[in-house]
Amino acid sequence: MPTINEILNTMDYGSAPESQKEAQAWLDGHQRTFGLFIDNAWSAPAELFASTNPADGTQLAELTQASDADVERAVEAARRALPVWQGMGGHGRAKVMYALARLLQKHSRLFAVLETLDNGKTIRETRDIDLPLAARHFYHHAGWAQLQSEEFADYRAVGVVGQIVPWNFPLLMLSWKIAPALAAGNTVVFKPAEFTSLTAMLFAELCVQAGVPAGVVNIVTGDGRVGSAIVNHPGVDKIAFTGSTEVGRLIREATAGSGKKLSLELGGKSPFIVFEDADLDGAVEGLVDSIWFNQGQVCCAGSRLLVQESVQERFLNKVRARMENLRLGSPLDKSMDVGALVDPVQRQRIAALVDSARAEGCDVWQPACELPLDGSWFPPTLITGASTSAAVAQAEIFGPVLVAMSFRTPPEAVQLANNTVYGLAASVWTESISLALDIAPAIKAGVVWINSANQFDAACGFGGYRESGFGREGGREGMLEYMTALAEDARPALPVAEAKAKGNVKPAPADPFAIDRTAKMYIGGKQARPDSAYSAPVFGANGALLAEVGVGSRKDIRNAVEAAHKASGWTSATAHNRAQVLYYIAENLAARADEFAARIAAMTGSKNPEKEVQASIERLFYYAAWADKYDGLAHQPPTKGITVALNEAVGVIGIVCPNEAPLLGFISLVAPAIALGNRVVVVPSEAHPLSALDLYQVFDTSDLPGGVVNIISGNADELARTLATHADIDAVWRHDGSAEGCAEVERLSAGTLKRTWVGGAKGRDWYSAAQSGGRAVLAHASQVKNVWIPYGV
Ligand code: NDP
Repeated sequence: MPTINEILNTMDYGSAPESQKEAQAWLDGHQRTFGLFIDNAWSAPAELFASTNPADGTQLAELTQASDADVERAVEAARRALPVWQGMGGHGRAKVMYALARLLQKHSRLFAVLETLDNGKTIRETRDIDLPLAARHFYHHAGWAQLQSEEFADYRAVGVVGQIVPWNFPLLMLSWKIAPALAAGNTVVFKPAEFTSLTAMLFAELCVQAGVPAGVVNIVTGDGRVGSAIVNHPGVDKIAFTGSTEVGRLIREATAGSGKKLSLELGGKSPFIVFEDADLDGAVEGLVDSIWFNQGQVCCAGSRLLVQESVQERFLNKVRARMENLRLGSPLDKSMDVGALVDPVQRQRIAALVDSARAEGCDVWQPACELPLDGSWFPPTLITGASTSAAVAQAEIFGPVLVAMSFRTPPEAVQLANNTVYGLAASVWTESISLALDIAPAIKAGVVWINSANQFDAACGFGGYRESGFGREGGREGMLEYMTALAEDARPALPVAEAKAKGNVKPAPADPFAIDRTAKMYIGGKQARPDSAYSAPVFGANGALLAEVGVGSRKDIRNAVEAAHKASGWTSATAHNRAQVLYYIAENLAARADEFAARIAAMTGSKNPEKEVQASIERLFYYAAWADKYDGLAHQPPTKGITVALNEAVGVIGIVCPNEAPLLGFISLVAPAIALGNRVVVVPSEAHPLSALDLYQVFDTSDLPGGVVNIISGNADELARTLATHADIDAVWRHDGSAEGCAEVERLSAGTLKRTWVGGAKGRDWYSAAQSGGRAVLAHASQVKNVWIPYGV
């Protein structure tokens, strides 16, 4: 009997072109020239640049390169519109967003054709994926607007939001950005990619029709300079960016210290893992959706195929056979699988990477396939024989190019999957549910699709780990990216205690016995002397020498980070277990309450040190209570299956503690971090470090495994710098009231795109549960991983 592929090979398809009449008429109606959409009005077109159809190279329209003055006008309009938009209330906004969703559906064919013309992706994808998902995003977020006062009562909108998107999903990315921002009551200045601005222009018209008030949505077109002007504008309160990791880094650096909220959705090199017991034919279809969807120009494309050695040959034969059947050609033809690349620049980039693989001796296989003469095309490509360090195995190719490798055991699969600086997505194929659910948490990625690929829904958060960025789009967590906790507004303008109190550190007097009173640091569950062998005196409130503390250095941080990594058992321990340890720490602290109170009084001169100790004990109870209750969610997206949102630990967190309330500040930051399974390297209050250093005695008697909490005393600025640049630290928190220090942490974190949580110059009432973070800290201490689990036969 002939196989399905043999049958398919004997069949031919007629062409089934989608009409472009309406889209061309719409462009004609605008004389194929567009100005900027600011304050619900179109500016006169100026400094025009062309937008072309990548499938044939013809010019579609000309758009305006926005100037700095235009961005200024857009930000001003957005600022003016804030009270109007927020004044409409949740229900008022929900109605407008619902209207937008309806209009997107009503005009979906026009949008789909326009997107295909502008981007080169197939009409099947724009019609069946981009448009339905875009409309769904507005529906879902109309719901959040309606529920905002109930579900997010302790939050407010951030303000004016700058949003910058790439060209691979122009309208869909617009929806992912604009819908949650509007739902939360923000106003936006939005920049589409230079290559693909046309659907944003059409969307602007819908905004007017839907009754979006003037200034709420402003769309400015142009190249990266416009993005940069938005990023650097002081009137913008938050930046939401999707694009390359390179530009993401620039934006992280540019916004450092500005107080702007930031979310980055960056590149990926996502693994597609096939185990020997997988439904191989199903996996082949999944692979088509994973790497040849949108010509592979997808941040979460499954660009690295990892297949178990026992089935490697069989699977790759199936893949090649399927590749022979992929139809490449006019994107408006409804029977095409693969369309055009967005631009010749992108084609050259991909070709150069594929050439580098050839030069390195890899096997590059492409099916016999005729490429259209005009436009920008690249054939589906399979690369085998690449080393794990080859450029094609590490760099984001962003094209229809699959790099295949094999593995023998599940642990090896996980190791290879995580052998990347990125962490956006992964696809896992096996018929064993227990294997799939064992692998999913082990992969460092924000989304894991089991027996499926490239699934998206507005209710399920999407976003990356590591250099794939931070922040989530979609779901409850996505809404929080567009809000600020009211408690943040209540913070005092300056730290209530003297911010630095560096004056306390005076040269050591010639006291031969002082050496006996050196408080040690704490690394890997053991007391440690500083590598530098230097110590500094700590004076009490009355000026008397209290003790000496070690002056920690880069080397001590390095040792502490190593110890923290070794303590990974803490992350895999049960939440119940972690809660027990936190309660035990509280109990042992209570047993020594007098001692700690005396130490606080001596250090700070506090008149009521007992209050700080009691508050610390209560805070330990608070986060012990949360340890086994900060559960994830089970989403039910409109596909057959569930999506489980897991709150995973971030990893190793570097923490710089405040000088205010030196014990309570330390506990308030360390307890939530370890409650959720993180390991920490902590710099205690520089001015009053002793009560934190005394805690090692409490930790040692509380079953806290060595390496979970490491304490390095010394100069906060220097140590924070080391934490922010360390390659094996996943996040840095700094809360010592140093504006420059916090800005520096943000700037330096750009190197590895660590997550940061900094307090800036303001103070914080550490006794207030809300101000010291409360539940909100747990969001900083965790990252959401969405695991998609389809079911049914
Ligand atoms: P970029 O990161 O350069 O562009 C993304 C958006 O940022 C565009 O709107 C761009 O403007 C704008 N931009 C460019 N420079 C700046 C800047 N300095 N400040 C603020 N905004 C800026 O990605 P590209 O489109 O150039 O693609 C390059 C590579 O990036 C791709 O080959 C791919 O590897 C990766 N990429 C990853 C994406 C993802 O989703 N992870 C998406 C797109 C690209 P404009 O385009 O108008 O110049």
